[in-house]
Amino acid sequence: MRKLQTFDLWQRPLAGMFKELLSTEGIDCVVKNDLLFAAMGEIPFTECYPELWIIDDEIYPRARLLLDSWLATNESDCESWTCTVCNEVSEGQFDACWSCGSLKQ
Ligand SMILES: [Zn+2]
Repeated sequence: MRKLQTFDLWQRPLAGMFKELLSTEGIDCVVKNDLLFAAMGEIPFTECYPELWIIDDEIYPRARLLLDSWLATNESDCESWTCTVCNEVSEGQFDACWSCGSLKQ
């Protein structure tokens, strides 16, 4: 297991989004410090920064490249947008809704 990225608290939806994106690339990963831990009182909320971990160390470099390219490609387009299907707001760098997976209109 190797940590790929630590997200800010407000970026929590991103952690799940990247996990999904990596999964579609066949890369197994987990999000640590999910909100669930704080809800259970396991750790203080302020220490619950979401972390994305790659399960297989050998795949890490590929995951790193993918994450970096996604971040770089979408850096300029940060306007958040509202899904026309489920009305959830997604970050602008994503082309698909984090909630239902519908493509950005
Ligand atoms: Zn949606």
